[in-house]
Amino acid sequence: MNSINVMYTILVFGFLLLGFIKYRQTIGEMRKEWGTRLQAKEEACREFSEESSRLEALVSEIINKEIMVVTLYEITKSMSVSIKFNSIFSIFSAFLKENFASFRKSELVILKGIDGRLTVDRTYRVCGVKETDLCESKMGYGALIELLIENVNAVYLTREKDELDFVKLHMDKETFVFFAIPLLSERKMVGILTVENLPFDDIERFTILAAQFALEIKKVLLYETVEELAITDGLTELYVRRYFFERLEEELKRSKRHNFKFIFLMIDIDNFKTINDTYGHLVGDVILKDVGRIIKENSREIDLAARYGGEEYSLVLPNTGREDGRVVAERIRGRIEENIFKAYDERLKVTVSVGVSVYPDDSSEVKGLVEKADKALYAAKDSGKNIVSVYGKPRIN
Ligand code: GH3
Ligand code: MG
Ligand code: MG
Repeated sequence: MNSINVMYTILVFGFLLLGFIKYRQTIGEMRKEWGTRLQAKEEACREFSEESSRLEALVSEIINKEIMVVTLYEITKSMSVSIKFNSIFSIFSAFLKENFASFRKSELVILKGIDGRLTVDRTYRVCGVKETDLCESKMGYGALIELLIENVNAVYLTREKDELDFVKLHMDKETFVFFAIPLLSERKMVGILTVENLPFDDIERFTILAAQFALEIKKVLLYETVEELAITDGLTELYVRRYFFERLEEELKRSKRHNFKFIFLMIDIDNFKTINDTYGHLVGDVILKDVGRIIKENSREIDLAARYGGEEYSLVLPNTGREDGRVVAERIRGRIEENIFKAYDERLKVTVSVGVSVYPDDSSEVKGLVEKADKALYAAKDSGKNIVSVYGKPRIN
């Protein structure tokens, strides 16, 4: 019985031991499984949080882009009604100051092509900093044009890497970063937009803005060309008669206000019909163009020169009296007389007759001044041509 009890006890212990071992094993496996599950959950959590910050960044990027699109729309709307460079640039400047806090200065350089070379026509500048002396422009525009022609695209220069270019561009030590974008119209560079010390992160936004701005510049340039075509004569590049009279009316009012005199000249090529008949219209056209050039070359920037009609020109000399007017008329007549006109294979001599009237002595109205100058011109023709005739005065020459 005892041995049965012992065996029974051993068996019970054996089962208990086995049960305990199994229990440990199961617990161990469960722990392992929970651990793996936990790890997977942690992994999923991490992925989720990464994904959510990626989404957050994306949302904020989209919001920023949306803000940019809305602001671009606003700026485009304001610029679209402007047809002058200074007004579109001031809209652009206000936008820059509001949206690009840390730039130093930005310049718009409008270019023109002369004899196949690009040169600076006009520049506009906006300062991002308060100290105006920091915003002065000493830019080497020639070097800038060369740099962009070489690069074809926009250039981004930093002081550490591109010191030589900074020297060529005459940039002072306060400029650390320089960004310049060519503004293109029909693949031709018509302008350059520059910005100094703009952080790299802002470059993309600035480039988008510049692209929009380039479209506006193109529009203004087109408008200026149309305007120019409407007011200048295609052959001589002098003002057309209609525009000339508009400007003459303004000049008359101004002279009245300030009590100034001015001179009205009527210049007519002598025997032009014979030139045309002898050498042909093409040669005649070259003469017309060259006479226009000589008139322009012998007058001041403020004088108004126009092609009045076929082979007639008029010239207004603001703030000038009778005697000085006669001297200018005589100079123009003399320069034309001594010039040798080269037209195709021909070498020709041409003369002009000039009639002169004076505001307000001869008339205080445009109509009267034209009539008096015309009368003087006829007197010059009657007296043998190649003559300056001043209204109401015995002829000179
Ligand atoms: P006068 O010395 O009295 O002024 O005589 P004129 O021959 O110069 O004057 P007229 O009025 O008889 O002739 C003017 C000529 O100018 C006639 C016309 O064919 C010519 N003409 C007008 N416009 C043009 C133009 O655009 N090109 C050319 N080639 N000729 C022109
Ligand atoms: Mg005539
Ligand atoms: Mg004539």
